[in-house]
Amino acid sequence: MKIQLLPSTIDDSRASVRQHLSCLVVDDRVAIDAGSLAQSATDVQRSEIRDVVLTHAHLDHIAGLPLFVDDLFATTRRPIVVHAIPEVVDVLERDIFNWSVYPRFSELSNEFGKVLEYRPFEAGDDFTVGHLEFRAIRVNHKVPSVGFVVSDGAKTVSMTGDTAELDGFWNVVNSVEVIDTLIVECAFPNRLEDLSVISHHLTPARLALELKKFRHDCPIYVMSIKPAYYDEVRRELADLGITRLEVFNGGRSIEI
Ligand SMILES: [Zn+2]
Repeated sequence: MKIQLLPSTIDDSRASVRQHLSCLVVDDRVAIDAGSLAQSATDVQRSEIRDVVLTHAHLDHIAGLPLFVDDLFATTRRPIVVHAIPEVVDVLERDIFNWSVYPRFSELSNEFGKVLEYRPFEAGDDFTVGHLEFRAIRVNHKVPSVGFVVSDGAKTVSMTGDTAELDGFWNVVNSVEVIDTLIVECAFPNRLEDLSVISHHLTPARLALELKKFRHDCPIYVMSIKPAYYDEVRRELADLGITRLEVFNGGRSIEI
């Protein structure tokens, strides 16, 4: 399984390791979140991706979705399917695809048929997306949000999405026989503990406490570091001394 964190930020005309937007692409075919999907997908990814699975509706996770649908509006031969919990679908329809911010693509068709469909799921559900099996798990963020266990039948990955402290997530993930990789968030440095609590994110110190609840011995990739604090958070993560843990930089692909 290949997972790429699409680049979202430009430094000196080059893709930066810093991450403003969240969009993971699995095997060039399935997007998990859509922050930079329109802006950064390759031509191959743009032609292959018709499934977008969302963790939650915060802007940095959905910003590229309206533009991605727009790009494909005239040419796609099958609808772009958005898989999300009902609360997220409601936000998209009410606040984004509302004819004011952007067209309500779910009501529009091209010459081949519908261009945007929703396939809602509930936290706790198992569902299939393309070649992948998903389990959705409620996490602890400021708005309704889920993380996932994702398997292609050979490898299995767990990912938290945006979250603060969790127990239910770890209970589910620990009950899975084999987890090959964990992708976890860590937004703020330790000195911004109060802000991380208010916004339901993690700091390196609090991430370390969470990882004590995780029973699998596998590589751990940390993403969703706020770009303004990238260097500081990276240093604090290194200071944890967890050798199997590394930062998942924008633009990077990992092979699992
Ligand atoms: Zn968020």
